[in-house]
Amino acid sequence: MAEDGLYLEGLTRRYGAVTALADLTFAVPPAQVVGFLGPNGAGKTTTMRAIFGLVELEAGDVAWRGRPIDAAARRRFGYMPEERGLYPTMQVREQLEYFARLHGLGPLAARERAVRWLERLGIADRADTKLEALSHGNQQRAQLCAALVHDPELLVLDEPLTGLDPGGIDEISEVLSERARAGVSVLLSSHQLDLVEDLCESVVIIDHGRLVTKGTVRELTTSGAKRLSVRVESVVDPTWARALCGVTVSEVHGDSLRLVLEEGVDSDLVLRAAMAQGRVTEFAFERRRLSEVFREAMA
Ligand code: ATP
Repeated sequence: MAEDGLYLEGLTRRYGAVTALADLTFAVPPAQVVGFLGPNGAGKTTTMRAIFGLVELEAGDVAWRGRPIDAAARRRFGYMPEERGLYPTMQVREQLEYFARLHGLGPLAARERAVRWLERLGIADRADTKLEALSHGNQQRAQLCAALVHDPELLVLDEPLTGLDPGGIDEISEVLSERARAGVSVLLSSHQLDLVEDLCESVVIIDHGRLVTKGTVRELTTSGAKRLSVRVESVVDPTWARALCGVTVSEVHGDSLRLVLEEGVDSDLVLRAAMAQGRVTEFAFERRRLSEVFREAMA
């Protein structure tokens, strides 16, 4: 069992004929933002709820820093649930202070933190407004303030980026990266794979409650067939690469080609073949997008 961060082992839960979680195991290390991905109904929310003891598991364990999670540990966690948990008719700052007090802060510290996070997420001017009077995106920011207000050591965020404008996405991404740099373990679910690719160091992909794949974004986007972008200036025959064994030409744009190399094909051979055609002005390996990795994992 991992001694650092959050460790989920063998989580299993069925609802009648539906398998929500099936022997699911993964870790959320300290100082990392981990993206939690899967199609609708894959089991992400159920997993997150299990971390907070809100789902009765048939089997499996959830551990924080190598120990079972108790109420004291949970007070140091921050949670942004899918069913957003704030009170619609209560003023924003008032309820942030209330949540901070629930997590053990004194009245002065609670007020200071509430103000600080409202300022950080750009809604300080709405502090005395009822939550229900805020726009959807600003309610989302307030929800995130509530998850952050007690400076938690673990952040669990169920689709925190949904419904935000590009500025809001940048601000929240920056806050989450900064929290991770400060040592916090961050687990976030999202269907916005391009954002996850930019924000997360690693991802866990599940389907039907089972682990499909996990790894760093770098590992996952650079594994498998190599992709090359090659440009040969003033090339006479832009399809020159078609003759190479184990190489597929996936796109041709003028004198630029995108190539897919089967495993084991030596890229030096491709470079030499390109140089034989003319002056090579581009020769670069390309990563797969995370969305491609996801689609392949689901196929
Ligand atoms: P989404 O991306 O749509 O939010 P998800 O990955 O969060 O999906 P879950 O909400 O965890 O998925 O649901 C996993 C499965 O378990 C679904 O088939 C869901 O219908 C089922 N499920 C979850 N909670 C319950 C419940 N309380 N009663 C019955 N079925 C449930």
